[in-house]
Amino acid sequence: MSRQTGHERGELALIRRLRDRLVPPRAAAGGVPFGDDMAELLPGAGEWLWTVDLLMDGVDFDSRRHEWRVIGRKAMAVNLSDCAAMGVQPVSALCAVCLSNRLSMDDAEALIAAADECGRRWNCPIVGGDTNSWDAPTVISITVAARPEADYQPIRRDGAQRGDRVWVSGKLGGSLLGRHLTFEPRVDLGITLARGLRPHAMIDISDGLALDLGRIMSASNVGVVLSESELAEVVHSDAERLALQDGQPASAHALHDGEDFELLIVLPPAVSETTARGLGLLPIGEVIAEPGLWQMGSHGDRTPIPLQGWEHFR
Ligand SMILES: [Mg+2]
Repeated sequence: MSRQTGHERGELALIRRLRDRLVPPRAAAGGVPFGDDMAELLPGAGEWLWTVDLLMDGVDFDSRRHEWRVIGRKAMAVNLSDCAAMGVQPVSALCAVCLSNRLSMDDAEALIAAADECGRRWNCPIVGGDTNSWDAPTVISITVAARPEADYQPIRRDGAQRGDRVWVSGKLGGSLLGRHLTFEPRVDLGITLARGLRPHAMIDISDGLALDLGRIMSASNVGVVLSESELAEVVHSDAERLALQDGQPASAHALHDGEDFELLIVLPPAVSETTARGLGLLPIGEVIAEPGLWQMGSHGDRTPIPLQGWEHFR
């Protein structure tokens, strides 16, 4: 809590406004109401998974360029993307914000309400949190609790095996042109894959295809050969637009740009191409025993791909 009376009054007023908006639908009759010391979950049996993200103005977003509702939506969506990556259903969110004193009450409400609206779309409302203010840039942190939809294990990064095929859920690169703010977390697809196809490994592409694929490779102790021709098929038109601006190859944007938030999926070879393509997946390569990331040309020639991607402290 802020110790300054003026801020305290402001904070209480904000909480009152939020209380009217944020109604936890799972609060049972007689359960703990919103705004008490803790939020109540009615967990039932089975396992729970948790994820948290921290976004800072000037580092992860820029409030001079982006609207607060857009920032709030993204703060929730990045957490939901992590749920998608494990094939689990998000259930409830906690939201902690340190608001810059320069924010108006309307801005603060827009930020948190947009996060809640985004969560709600995937059945993951904000059920509690904390709001402080200070004379510094705004910081927002959202924590999400999730669980498998039915009787299956969450999909991890460490199960890729030689001979598996590597797929992505959509085209990649150039998200900087706007998609990094408007992406749809692939929650439903992640659950469908986890239930139906049991991927050997899965991750969401937050830091770039090469870097996130590298995470699967090192966790699974395998390598991957990407097909040059298949890679060409997953280059997003935004990657091509960005390539025209900066002179980099569009395929480099597809490989190394961050914040696509598509799923990167490793499927056993028994899953047919028809089945995978039927879910909108696009093939990009194959898992090999030998460590390293490679690109294979049409003549079978292999060139190494550097495991570079999005750097948080550029
Ligand atoms: Mg992730």
